[in-house]
Amino acid sequence: MIPVARAESFYLPPPQLRADAWELVPGAERVFRWYEYRVQRRVSLPEGFIVGQQVYARINHNRWVVDCRCGSAQVATPTDQRTACTECGLGWITVVFPDDPDAVEAGLAELPPDDRNWVHPEDPGTTWLAPAPTQPQPEPMRAETLR
Ligand SMILES: [Zn+2]
Repeated sequence: MIPVARAESFYLPPPQLRADAWELVPGAERVFRWYEYRVQRRVSLPEGFIVGQQVYARINHNRWVVDCRCGSAQVATPTDQRTACTECGLGWITVVFPDDPDAVEAGLAELPPDDRNWVHPEDPGTTWLAPAPTQPQPEPMRAETLR
């Protein structure tokens, strides 16, 4: 069976490094190592934790995924319930996983990997929705403009 991909199995060291080179890198930080290799420059980890912000993890085509407000997304892991964005610089925020991620994965195991999708039942789906744009209101017509 093909397991659901987590950050630990998705973000792997480049071929010139030992396969276990990132073994001690926390799951949520692996994307930064992977991204550094791809862009060939140093990318610093965020220093701050944004209190009060959270995002729900979901399974998308057999990967645990978290979305960022900037439109980017990354593979996450239930073993490290943090995420930060390599694209927009969003600091660390909390990722909400189901109480039993293994059970969720097992519940999808009979499906072909591409069909394994799952959304947290408490996810309002509005985490990163921007406030509705306000429509400009027309100026009320004044008597002097009617002349
Ligand atoms: Zn972002």
